[in-house]
Amino acid sequence: MPLIQPLLDCSYPEAARADGVFLYDIEGKRYLDGCSGAVAASIGHGVPEIVEAMQEQASKLAFSYRLQFTNGPAEQLAAELGDAAPGDLDWVFFVNSGSEAMETALKIALQFWEEQDRKDKSGIISRSLSYHGITLGALSMSGHEARRRRFSSLLHDFPIAPPPYCYRCPLGKTYPDCDLACATELETSIRRMGPEHLAAFVAEPIIGAAGGAIVPPDGYFQRVREICDRYDLLLIIDDVMTGVGRTGKMYGIEHWNVVPDIISVGKGLSAGYSPLAATLVSDRVMQTIRDHSGVVMSGHTYSGNPLSCAVGLAVLQYLRDHELVERANRVGVTLGERLRAMAERHPIIGDVRGVGFLWGLELVEDAETHTPYSAEMEISKILRDVAQDLGLLVYPALTGADVRPGDAVMIAPPLTINGHEMDLMFELLEESLNALEEALVASGSVSTALQSEGHEIYGR
Ligand code: PMP
Repeated sequence: MPLIQPLLDCSYPEAARADGVFLYDIEGKRYLDGCSGAVAASIGHGVPEIVEAMQEQASKLAFSYRLQFTNGPAEQLAAELGDAAPGDLDWVFFVNSGSEAMETALKIALQFWEEQDRKDKSGIISRSLSYHGITLGALSMSGHEARRRRFSSLLHDFPIAPPPYCYRCPLGKTYPDCDLACATELETSIRRMGPEHLAAFVAEPIIGAAGGAIVPPDGYFQRVREICDRYDLLLIIDDVMTGVGRTGKMYGIEHWNVVPDIISVGKGLSAGYSPLAATLVSDRVMQTIRDHSGVVMSGHTYSGNPLSCAVGLAVLQYLRDHELVERANRVGVTLGERLRAMAERHPIIGDVRGVGFLWGLELVEDAETHTPYSAEMEISKILRDVAQDLGLLVYPALTGADVRPGDAVMIAPPLTINGHEMDLMFELLEESLNALEEALVASGSVSTALQSEGHEIYGR
C-alpha cells in the first residue's frame, strides 16, 4: 500500500461519504462523529451551502498567487475575522494548517522585536502540556513529549511553564488557595530566563490534544496578560482547536476577556471542507513591521487561496445563519451536565472538563486517588478503538505528561448535532465505556473502585 498511514501496520476503514454528524465507510457502516474528526468538522458534513460556495468559487477563480494578486474571498474573510476579534487584532495572514498558523505567529513575534533592534528577544515560553503543531517551530513550542522525542535534537526547550491543570496540579496546590501559583511560576521562569531574551508566551485557551480539554481557572489568563505586559512579552493564543465557535465564543480566549497580541485559528475555520488556517495580528505589532521592513516573512503557495477563503466565508455565514456559536454555548451546558452524570456511573472517568462543545474525559485507574493507567496501556486509544467499532468517533488525548502519565478522550461533536443524535452519541459512549470496562475486568486490570462497587457491567 503506497499511502503512508498514521500507523503503518494498522488497517483503517475506508471513508466513503458523510452527511451531517455521520460518516459512512465503503462497507456501509455508519459512524457518529463525536469529535468532528480532529475537532474540525464543526458544522457537520456535506452541508449544501458550503458545497455550493465551493462550486461557485472553483468555477470562478480557484487559485491566484498571493505575490501576483489579492482576491475577494481572502480580503473579505480577513475583514470578517478581524471584525469579530477582540481589541485591535485587525490583521490576518492565511495559511493551510494550524501548525503553519503557529509557525507564522512565532515568526511574526520574533520579527516584531527584531525590527525594533531587539534581536535578543527571540526565545519563547510555552507550557509543559501543550500542542501547537507538528512543524519544527510549532513542535518546539509544544509540550507534547510523544511528538517531540524523535526530533529533540532540532527542537528548542520552550515548554517550561506549568499548565493550569487543577485536576493534577503540577505544583501540588488547590485552586483557589493556590492564588494561581502556575501563573506566578510563569513569572518566575520569565525572570530566570531574562525577559530581554524572550519574545512571547504561547498558550492554548483550553489545552486540547496534549491535555484533553483542560480549562484554566478564572483569573489565570488575566494574570498571564499582566505578566506579559510587565515583562514586555507578546501573548500568542493558539485558538486552532478552540476558535471559530467551538467553545461558545468566536475566539476561545474571549471567555476570559483578555486581548492577546496574536491569535491563531484553524480547524473550525473551514470546518473540514478545505485546508485553511489563519494568524490574526494586532495593529500594534503590524504597524511596527510596516514601519520597518514592511514584509511578513512567512507564507505558502496556497496562502489565502480564493477557494479555501470562500469556504471560510461560507462557514462563517452558516454559523451566523444558524446561530451556532450561541447554540454551542447553550447546548454545551447540557452536554457537560450529561457527561458529568455519565461519569457518576463510570469510575474510570476521573474528571470531566470543558466548555461549549469541547469536552474531555480523563480516564483513571482509581478515581479516588486520581491514579492514571500506565502510559504503555494507552487506555484512551483502546477506548477510541472500542467506540469506533461500535460506530462512535472520539478523540484520544494525552494528559498528565511531565507530572505523570495520563489519558483522556475528547467529545466534541459538530455544533449542529440535534437532540436525537446527541442521545445516540450518549448511548454509544455508554456502550463503549461498558465494553471497555468489561474488557478491563476480563484482563484483570480493573480499578478497585470498579470492583467494589459491583458495577453494573458485571451482570452483562
Ligand atoms: N494547535 C492546536 C491547539 C491544535 O489542536 C492543533 C492540531 N491538533 C494544531 C495547532 C496543529 O494544527 P494542524 O494539525 O492543522 O497543523
